[in-house]
This record gives sequence, C-alpha cells and structure tokens, in this order.
Amino acid sequence: MLRTILIAAAALGIAISGAVWWLFLADSKAPEAAPGVFSIEDWRSRLPEDASTLPTEIRVLEIGRDKAPGFAARAGGFGTDWNTTYNSIQIVWPDRTLVVDGAIDAATAEGMVQSQADWSFDAAAYETLLAAMLKADQVVITHEHLDHVMAVARHPDPVALAPRLTLNAPQIATLPIFAIGALDPAIAELAPRLDGTVQSIAPGVVIIPAAGHTPGSQLVFIRTQDGRETLLIGDVAWSLDAVETLTTRPVLTQYMIFDPNEDRTSVKAQLRALHDLMAANPDLAVIPAHDGDHIRALMEEGRLIKGFRE
Ligand SMILES: [Zn+2]
Ligand SMILES: [Zn+2]
Repeated sequence: MLRTILIAAAALGIAISGAVWWLFLADSKAPEAAPGVFSIEDWRSRLPEDASTLPTEIRVLEIGRDKAPGFAARAGGFGTDWNTTYNSIQIVWPDRTLVVDGAIDAATAEGMVQSQADWSFDAAAYETLLAAMLKADQVVITHEHLDHVMAVARHPDPVALAPRLTLNAPQIATLPIFAIGALDPAIAELAPRLDGTVQSIAPGVVIIPAAGHTPGSQLVFIRTQDGRETLLIGDVAWSLDAVETLTTRPVLTQYMIFDPNEDRTSVKAQLRALHDLMAANPDLAVIPAHDGDHIRALMEEGRLIKGFRE
C-alpha cells in the first residue's frame, strides 16, 4: 500500500513539474536563424533622398503604467520586474504629425490592473491623445489588441477620426473582438489603407507587416532628420530583454491572456530577426510598446521626447 502511495506521489510530482515547465518555460526560445523575416535594406530603400523631408522628433505620451513579474514578459525571467507602460507615439514633422497606437482608456486600465500599488491612469494625457489624433495627418496602430486601440475604438468623434485612420485589413477585421462594445460604423466600415506589404506611409515612416502576435501586427520604422533610426515593434516582445535573450512569453500567457492565441512560431522567428537586426545595427532604437524602463531610458538619452506636441 505504502509503495503504491509513493509511486502515485512520485507520478503526481513529475506531472506537476512537467506542467510547470510547460506553462512557464517551454516553447519559448527563438530559432537559430530567421532568414528573410525582416530586411532593413528594404525599409531604407523606401526613405526619401531629401533628409529635410524627414520627421524631426518622436514623442511618447504615457497614458498609464503598471507592474508585473518579469517572467510574464519573458519565459524564465523570474525575480525581475516588468514595469509596464501604456502609451502612444507621435511622429512630428515641421508641418504635420502622425500618431501610432491608441493606448487604453480609464475603464480598460482598471480592468487590466496587475499591481494595485503600482498602476496608474492619466486622464489628462488620454484627453491629450484624443485631441492629438484629430490633429494628426494619420493614425496607425501596431496591432489590434485592446491596450493599443481604445482611443480609436472609443474616440468621442469617430466621424472626424475615420479619415485619418490608416489601418490594414486584418486590423479592421479583428478590431471588433478587442474594442469591447460596439464600434461606430465610421470605424467598423473603414476601408483598409495599408495593403499588407512593406509600405512607406509618410516621408521617413515605413510600415512592416509582422503577423504573429495578432493577424494585423506590424512594425513602424522611422528615420528622423538627425539620421537616427527607430523601430516600434508593438508587442512582438513585451520587454527588450526578450529580444536580447531570444525568449518569448511563457505558454501560460496563451491560456491566461490571448484569445485568440498568438502564432508563437511567427513571434519566435521575429524575435530572432530583431535580435540579429539589433546586433548588425547597434544605433537602431528598438522599442517594445510596453517596456517602461527602456522607454524612460530613451527619453533620458533624448531619443524620445516626453509628451505630445499640442
Ligand atoms: Zn498585444
Ligand atoms: Zn499591448
């Protein structure tokens, strides 16, 4: 009897260990190589010859922040914090602006709280974002998840916003899933303005399709007049160390957070491609949308400017 109990206990222990390994560590490493996933030469070939037409600034407006364990953003990242930020980016030229991402509104922020002690929502910043979208030439989103689209999906003036929205077909198709609540027809019935290929949408701004995290995920490559290059990667990684260590989110997130699930194979290949891109281009600023520590460091360096131009 005792022997049976011991065998059963050992089997249970092995099963639990296996489940923990699977949920927290398995299937998280990028492949050895990812040829052809991204080509910075292709992106650069789409930049204008005349540098005076390039943007002058990249600005970041933080709408909210929170804190979660590092192992949520990167499998195996135990004992570290992930200082999460919810933000929008404003690309500025002397005569125009372009806004990337719609962040979260107050209700969504409250529904997503990870740490009661650390989370915050800036209602004034959200109002600034709503107004900035109506002054922008174009509004694009890195992807259609709820924490990137609320100022689009719940904009108080969807009719004025719609002509500025430059979305791809999968984003428009998937937006209703994440928008929470009915979309205004002006947005729901929008026609795609991106064709799913690498495309320049303004002088110095190139959109790179990157389906994986969501069907409509894309990168935004920017060169400013000072010659610096920036790559907004949305949620391909939630923290830059995920790219540096070639390690994506734990499988656990597929069950707890994503519905529908990510295409992990594509995300892992993109991590490898981004890792190699950073190694070959050390001056390129690669920015995961939620990496609060990295974004703050880039603001301190002057690579990003805090707050939107109004
Ligand atoms: Zn996302
Ligand atoms: Zn996100």
